[in-house]
Amino acid sequence: MQIARPDSAVEEILPSVAGFLESPVRMVIGDQKVASDTSETLAVFNPATGQKIAEVPKGNAQDIDKAVKAARGALKGEWSRMRPADRQRVMLKLADLIEANGEELAQLETLNNGKSVMLSRMIEVGASADYMRYMAGWATKIEGSTIDVSIPVPPGTKYHAYTRKEPVGVVGAITPWNFPLNMAVWKIAPALACGCTVVIKPAEETPLTTVRLVELCLEAGLPAGVVNVVTGTGEEAGAALTAHPGVQKLAFTGSTEVGKLIGVQAMQDMKRVTLELGGKAPMIMFDDMDMDQLGVAAGIGVFFNSGQTCCAGTRIYAQKGIFDKVCDFLADMTRSLSIGSGLDPANQINPMVSAKHQGHVNACIARGLEQGAKPLLNSGSYDGPGFFVRPEIFTAVDQKMSIMQDEVFGPVVTITPFDDPDDAIVMANDTRFGLGASLWTTNLNTMHKYVPQIEAGTVWVNAHNLPDQNMPFGGYKQSGIGREHGRAALDNYLETKSVCIALG
Ligand code: NAD
Repeated sequence: MQIARPDSAVEEILPSVAGFLESPVRMVIGDQKVASDTSETLAVFNPATGQKIAEVPKGNAQDIDKAVKAARGALKGEWSRMRPADRQRVMLKLADLIEANGEELAQLETLNNGKSVMLSRMIEVGASADYMRYMAGWATKIEGSTIDVSIPVPPGTKYHAYTRKEPVGVVGAITPWNFPLNMAVWKIAPALACGCTVVIKPAEETPLTTVRLVELCLEAGLPAGVVNVVTGTGEEAGAALTAHPGVQKLAFTGSTEVGKLIGVQAMQDMKRVTLELGGKAPMIMFDDMDMDQLGVAAGIGVFFNSGQTCCAGTRIYAQKGIFDKVCDFLADMTRSLSIGSGLDPANQINPMVSAKHQGHVNACIARGLEQGAKPLLNSGSYDGPGFFVRPEIFTAVDQKMSIMQDEVFGPVVTITPFDDPDDAIVMANDTRFGLGASLWTTNLNTMHKYVPQIEAGTVWVNAHNLPDQNMPFGGYKQSGIGREHGRAALDNYLETKSVCIALG
């Protein structure tokens, strides 16, 4: 079934979705759908109701070992002999299958993650299919270079030197829960374009769409073992994947804390590693901003995905001339947001992904209150089933408060006034993170003056929170190492081999 209109509510769960949830969910290793070595399982919940919806295998080190061996075998098998054009073709088929199964994937994502089905359709499915096609294009465009060399010995000898780009090998991909399908595609697509093979370990909260995606990989015609999925916890399956000697490259998206553990482990055996980590993005609003854009700033910048976005604009700095208006607008708008299940796109605030994460966001709000931040809404806690949190806006904050320094990852934002723009930049940069930021101004000089001063991997102007497959994405400071998307992403999945030929 093709995908439904993004803004239409889910009236009934598709039989294919119900069937998938009812039958035992299996990992995919090689061409086999398997339970864990120990047959242990993990429960998966619907965040909107708090009810269990499925059980998935609790993969362990043995399962990871089997998956890495399958990926290793595939790396040297048929996959390595396929022409780039054939790799491209199978990736394009996979993109078509993502779309053809789009409504099923979207419903599954919303049931598992809680997010608006509109986002599931547009981002998890739509943007993922686009991403797969974009990376498929690169499969036929990988190239090295010819190099003039000046080697002086033996005297008079001439050389022909060039570089080859070769797949880095088996990729261990570890993904977070906030954009489960999309993050899986961000890892798998460039790996396939470069001829690598993959073992992916999705977040324990949201494994379902990644499992379906890997099933679709086989259906698209990828040889067995090219993409494998092991479900399970980070501490067990994730750590085993990170440490496995058969993995050459780790592609991680998740928290800075876990990213540091993965980085340390990667250095033990010199695995290539990219880390896409946490954020605490500032949005700097100047007196001359177009006030009609406040709705976009709040809706997409702050509350997109119910604030569970690594680039979420969680710290607004508003110049004194507009500070009161920004506070009033945000308070009115946030009060009007309807809270409820993501199956109805009319609900703009959907549940947090898990009871644990709901507890974390509530604790961050409580700490903000304890430390003296002023709640504009005084929302209070959410009573009822599901892992919901009521949005909150804090003013009277100072830079040292944890609400200004630590990642909340929920519908919570602070607003701080500033007079001198230079002070705003200092406050914006006063964080250990550096993933995203935005400037809101109609003055070109202001924009060009301050863009270079922001310490962040992406700076939007009059926009926020909008990545693109062709635009490098990654963090300064503790928001990560490396860049995903665009041509730059391919280097993460390729080794450079220099070849030097002495001419007779
Ligand atoms: P997390 O770090 O808790 O978990 C991410 C993944 O790591 C999960 O699959 C988890 O099972 C695994 N993991 C946990 N412990 C592990 C270990 N010891 N060894 C190996 N793997 C382990 O993050 P999360 O709570 O799932 O996701 C939210 C975080 O992700 C936020 O900090 C957010 O900012 C970040 N994020 C960053 C980006 C980005 O592109 N920079 C995008 C989305 C989310």
